[in-house]
Amino acid sequence: MQESSRLSPAALPSPVWHPCTQMQDHADLPPLHVVGAHGCRLRLADGREILDAIGSWWCKSLGHGHPRLVAAAQAQIAAFEHVILAGVIHDPALHLAQRLLDLVNGPLPPARRFGHVFYADNGSTGVEVALKMAVHWQRQAGDPRRTRFACLAEGYHGETVGALSVSDQGAFAEPYQSLLFPCQRLDAVPWRAGPEDPLWLDASAEWPALEAALASHADTLAAIVYEPVLQGAAGMRPVSPDLLVRLRRWADAHGVLLVADEIASGLYRCGSPLASQLAPGDGAPDLVVLSKGLTGGWMPLATVLAPTRIYSAFLAEWHAGKAFLHSNTYAGNPLACAVALAALDVYRDEAIAARVAVSGPFLRHELRALAATRPYLHNVRGVGQIAAVDLRRADGTPLPRLDRTGWKVYREALDRGALLRPLGDTLYVFPPLNAPADELAAMLAMLVTSIDAVLA
Ligand code: PMP
Repeated sequence: MQESSRLSPAALPSPVWHPCTQMQDHADLPPLHVVGAHGCRLRLADGREILDAIGSWWCKSLGHGHPRLVAAAQAQIAAFEHVILAGVIHDPALHLAQRLLDLVNGPLPPARRFGHVFYADNGSTGVEVALKMAVHWQRQAGDPRRTRFACLAEGYHGETVGALSVSDQGAFAEPYQSLLFPCQRLDAVPWRAGPEDPLWLDASAEWPALEAALASHADTLAAIVYEPVLQGAAGMRPVSPDLLVRLRRWADAHGVLLVADEIASGLYRCGSPLASQLAPGDGAPDLVVLSKGLTGGWMPLATVLAPTRIYSAFLAEWHAGKAFLHSNTYAGNPLACAVALAALDVYRDEAIAARVAVSGPFLRHELRALAATRPYLHNVRGVGQIAAVDLRRADGTPLPRLDRTGWKVYREALDRGALLRPLGDTLYVFPPLNAPADELAAMLAMLVTSIDAVLA
């Protein structure tokens, strides 16, 4: 019998069509039924507790149910829950914009500072805002030929058609190729193991190839779009922060904007408020997209930070047609902004940057020690509060794709009490930034014993 005819739709357990899922996989493994969550732990309907080792799609930076975020949400619900943001302002949106600007501008020279915050309602739409703003700005700044983008190999920027066009995730985009616009792919990405890598702050080996790829499009590029320091969907691959300095220099010389997608890497995930701040010199972007950890992973919200020089190019009499006419219904939702303000308070008051400076290296040190005795674990890497490892044959070659080894590890880990979400045969932890050391160690232990159960 063919695989596809073995299961009838009626055999599937619920009416929900889950995101990024082959629903047939649920025929013998129902989705986890969560009834409560606290800190790193998910409570299931059957009474079990599971450690959320991936921060629920990389967003639960402060764990589940942080009491200060609960209080902020409750206070805002008591005031009002949502209001249009065109022609209206409210304290949560106003204060959050100011706090974000204060947070990111501190270390920047005046010429690089951000002056304005544009709100969208999720990461992908935040990326769409940045793409449209970049092309629109180039036109209004007098260069309408600049309508193209360059992006890094293996990059990922979201699911909407523009965000998918500037991404390089074959399987996710393949069915929609006919919808996507062309993008200049930059292949020679300076991937590194992380801050412990001797070449962490040196992208000189890759730069000539990158520069050559950029040069042939120098006159038509509106912007270069990239995930600074960490490419998440690529397999949790750290990228030398030196790249940011080199891109900055090149972009300035050629009138091209830099768009930093900090949706996954920003807000302390890599250890600093912005991942771009890890650049060893001037690596500041022109537009920054934030989401996920912005609300501590509580609500859909995104911001695009823009400098005043970009904002000003959209100012004109109405009939000049220069306004940025992008809107999302829930842009700047007051509940989300109130929670985001509380999250910024917690990042500061709980000294999250200092915690990540300790717990990030701890994660990678532990994972390296566990990998040292296991011939099927290769390429331990990470930055900030992330550690990743590849499952491979002993000689380092990939395991057969059709074996779905990562998927088998995922299932084993559920039995052992951890929620993972492998990227193919890459296993990683992406825990809350305030996770206690014993829970971090437990996540790694469950990850490795699950791998052992499949491969040893
Ligand atoms: N960019 C990056 C780097 C991401 O990791 C993600 C989400 N994983 C997105 C964009 C898309 O964000 P969202 O899922 O909120 O649309």
